[in-house]
Amino acid sequence: MQSINEIDELVKLISKLPGLGPKSAKRIVLKLINNRNELIKPMAKTLAEVYKNISRCKICGTLKNNAIECSYNNCKILEKKYDKICVVESIGDQWSIESSNIYEGYFHILGGTVSSVGKRKEDLLINSLIERVKKGKIDEVIIATSATVEGMTTAYYIKDSLKGINVKVSKLAQGLPVGGEIENLDDGTLFSAFKNRNGVSNKAD
Ligand SMILES: [Zn+2]
Repeated sequence: MQSINEIDELVKLISKLPGLGPKSAKRIVLKLINNRNELIKPMAKTLAEVYKNISRCKICGTLKNNAIECSYNNCKILEKKYDKICVVESIGDQWSIESSNIYEGYFHILGGTVSSVGKRKEDLLINSLIERVKKGKIDEVIIATSATVEGMTTAYYIKDSLKGINVKVSKLAQGLPVGGEIENLDDGTLFSAFKNRNGVSNKAD
């Protein structure tokens, strides 16, 4: 295959996406090139818009349009709608839990784990979690980090950060396979993990 810089670069970028290797990346690039007006043009425009306009909310961690305040009921606890807040690593984890319909409450998206590469404790939205718990009259914080070493370290750190605050802290445990990432769990496993969650500390602490 003749080497063209732009194409090589695009293949390299696309093969970094989840589930794609160089072979499928090449197929995607070919499809794009063969559909310049239907695919490349609108995709380039949309990507530029997403890059410019969309970012994570600095309070709750969800995706939002930069131009507007985070209006998602996840964030601003204007009226006390729920008394629980579920802490997850990523937006993908939130989507999995939401689609399984097993939990009703607020979400807080950390944006990674304490020990994931390049992540420092300060990069995770832990201070804003503490603020939300204090201001929102939250009764229970459910830690739903993955059953990986990083996830468990993060759970421990969150629990420690919430010490001294009048809130019940629980953690998804039973039913979670070791190494299980929340995003990839099926609804049944998630259901039993929520139902059988363990209290790791309570208001009596
Ligand atoms: Zn928000």
